[in-house]
Amino acid sequence: MDMTWFDEMESRIPKGEVRTRFAPSPTGYMHVGNLRTALYTWLIARNQGGRFLLRIEDTDQGRLVEGAAEMIYRTMAECGLTHDEGPDVGGPVGPYIQSERRGTYGQYAKLLVERGGAYYCFCKKSEEAEETEEKGVHKHHCSCPHLSAQEAEAKIDAGEPYVIRQKIPAEGTTTFHDASFGDITVENAELDEQILLKSDGLPTYNFANVIDDHLMGITHVVRGSEYLSSAPKYNLLYESFGWEIPTYIHCSPVMRDQHNKMSKRHGDPSYEDLKAQGYLTEAILNYVALLGWSPRGVDSQREFFTLEELTRAFDLSGISKSPAIFDLEKLKYFNANYLRAMAPKDFYQAALPYLQSAISSPSIDLSLVAPLVQPRCDTFLDIAPQVDFFDALPTYSNELYVHKKMKTTLENSLEALQLTRPILAELTDWTYESIHTALVELAQKLELKNGRIMWPVRTALSGKAVTPGGAVEFCQILGKEETLRRIDLGIAQLSAS
Ligand code: GLU
Repeated sequence: MDMTWFDEMESRIPKGEVRTRFAPSPTGYMHVGNLRTALYTWLIARNQGGRFLLRIEDTDQGRLVEGAAEMIYRTMAECGLTHDEGPDVGGPVGPYIQSERRGTYGQYAKLLVERGGAYYCFCKKSEEAEETEEKGVHKHHCSCPHLSAQEAEAKIDAGEPYVIRQKIPAEGTTTFHDASFGDITVENAELDEQILLKSDGLPTYNFANVIDDHLMGITHVVRGSEYLSSAPKYNLLYESFGWEIPTYIHCSPVMRDQHNKMSKRHGDPSYEDLKAQGYLTEAILNYVALLGWSPRGVDSQREFFTLEELTRAFDLSGISKSPAIFDLEKLKYFNANYLRAMAPKDFYQAALPYLQSAISSPSIDLSLVAPLVQPRCDTFLDIAPQVDFFDALPTYSNELYVHKKMKTTLENSLEALQLTRPILAELTDWTYESIHTALVELAQKLELKNGRIMWPVRTALSGKAVTPGGAVEFCQILGKEETLRRIDLGIAQLSAS
């Protein structure tokens, strides 16, 4: 076999730097486990001053979902997991989409046959059988490995369809090392002679990942532990080619509870779902980072990390072997903390779409509403139910005026509204300060606690038992006309009772 082409491929491989890759299959949504893999992989590269690659693994053409690749790009960009090489930005070892590397896999599969690590298999099989085998459902045995090179060549020349299978040594054991699981040894007899190159000329994942990781100079492979059982076969491939084996880091699954993995089918949220449920990207990333990794040393007790802080703190030894349970309440806790810590103007910007969909009245200044809800929401979805009354006063029961601690009753609330009404009506300067002063002065004049005035006004303006903010804010935000209208309604409602 002429090795010039292979030598040229080898010469392109970058050396002397940490190189990691996120290699999603565009088969659907970005689930939490995927996001975690992307994050850990990115963190290793950034922590080591290395390079982070994005590779699209689309060899399983039957499972492709339209728009899935775009969703991956969007998510990565939104999360700040920038890639140095990839389909959209190019790089020295492209193309970065597996379906565009078809010729490469064919060449390497043939080379592997030459090196004794694989064989042509002509057994007639339906595509369905190819698939079940790929999933490890059954093991393959046939006499094709015994065909001589000439016999195999003759069949190929005669146009017989074939696949290329991995040749596994009949005896002995294979050991591989994983950074968190340690050394794992398996009997070769247990390993399946899996298909490497399918009859359509496309590789299986099992082959493509090894070829690409090698040709792309990948030093650390982070992936889900569902690949753990296949790892010995990958090692045998590396050995057959005489290539250096990368550091493996297999991550335990993210679980919905003690016994079940998270799954979209059971309604568990993806990254996009969590965004739609009002969670902040930063909070999601922070929480996801801790699903299977814990900080060490000075940071061991710490929960809150920005992406930059994670980059500094991240180390492989903190990755755990045990499955992590995704707890939405814990994520909520992270999210609430992130929301509270935002600069008010950033919170306003981020909350704006939610405020806009909750409040349509153009006279309401949403920048005044935002600070009221900032300390009172766990997610952005908590905004709407708290602020709906700005748009339209709900019908409410007079019972809301009665508050033990404030010492308000139906009677003294009616009085308070009747006394407040003319004072507010006379106010020319409609600002927070002037409204506040007017209401406090009224209470002082009547020798009452502020609450005796504030509570009835707050109730008349909101029609709710619990609100973000109080009487003065609501007067200011609603404006003079609407404030007086709602107070009049309150007076009428209380007078009628
Ligand atoms: N395409 C595989 C997946 O999405 C990637 C596994 C790997 O990172 O090697 O699960």
